[in-house]
Amino acid sequence: MKVLITGGAGFIGSHLATRHLSLGDDVAIIDNLSTSAMENIQHLVEHPRCSCLVDDILNVEVMRGLISECDLIYHLAAAVGVEYVLENPLKTLTTNIRGTEIILELANEQKKRVVLASTSEIYGKKNGNVPFREDSDRLLGPTTVVRWSYSTTKAVDELLALAYWREKRLPTVIVRPFNVIGPRQTGRYGMVVPRFIKQAMLGDDITVYDDGEQRRCFTYIDDAVDGLIALASSDRAFGDVFNLGSNFESSIKDLAHKIKAMTGSDSEIAFIPFSQTLSRNGLYEDLVYRAPDLQKIRDLVGYDPKVDLDEALRRIIEDFKR
Ligand code: UDP
Repeated sequence: MKVLITGGAGFIGSHLATRHLSLGDDVAIIDNLSTSAMENIQHLVEHPRCSCLVDDILNVEVMRGLISECDLIYHLAAAVGVEYVLENPLKTLTTNIRGTEIILELANEQKKRVVLASTSEIYGKKNGNVPFREDSDRLLGPTTVVRWSYSTTKAVDELLALAYWREKRLPTVIVRPFNVIGPRQTGRYGMVVPRFIKQAMLGDDITVYDDGEQRRCFTYIDDAVDGLIALASSDRAFGDVFNLGSNFESSIKDLAHKIKAMTGSDSEIAFIPFSQTLSRNGLYEDLVYRAPDLQKIRDLVGYDPKVDLDEALRRIIEDFKR
């Protein structure tokens, strides 16, 4: 099989590419390196079954060529990370909406299977029914809070993919990842785990926003890749939406203490009031709680995340040290 991964030089894409190569598949990567890095795929560029193109998914002719040569597309290229989204509101909209339109349109010309990476941001704020099920209602704040634009772009992507399935029978699967973590993830655009590990290892303050009682479920990258590949291989997943996450839950305050202890760091844990964080201009709003209901993906493909938070942090810290 030949697999095309848009955003393949990103954190999730690079791990997915590595796994597909080890399964014996050919892999083509396209990435514009906006939030990713060549060093994520340095170990792949010499691989005889891997090709990597630095270009943009908005480049229709390039995409048409790549799609014509593949059997399966993982569409991961997107503007991600709360800080990136806040700094690049327009690019977020065009990359996430126009980019996905282009991929789906071209995939439909050739009826190629598409796995669309959506997001757990889709659900928005805690709205009385956490853990979130795929058919849960969504609760977003106003359009003036930039955070919600990311969720909205991904909702448009999902609607497009569902419409292509319903009207054109384009085989698409929609996946909503929940706080995926692992080696090679950067903290530059928000993500809390690589940020805290870097701060702890440099002896800087570990910056917990607000009181740190916000809670998240963290999914180790290997489990996320298992889920993505299982869904991509299941014909019964077409035209449907799946959470991809774990129930390895922690408050952000406990996460900071854990990382401080595991790295043997003498960093201080600093509690930063919201008024001094990203929310200072009223463009950002935090989420109190996010957790997935995993029944659907479990029932369909037997998904069963195995790497708990302690083991995940141990592996990431080891990688940081290297
Ligand atoms: N967070 C934090 N300090 C940081 C970065 C993030 O306390 O330096 C918190 C953030 O407020 C959120 C949680 O960690 O409640 C997870 O943030 P992240 O950006 O990783 O992902 P999110 O789940 O918000 O998309």
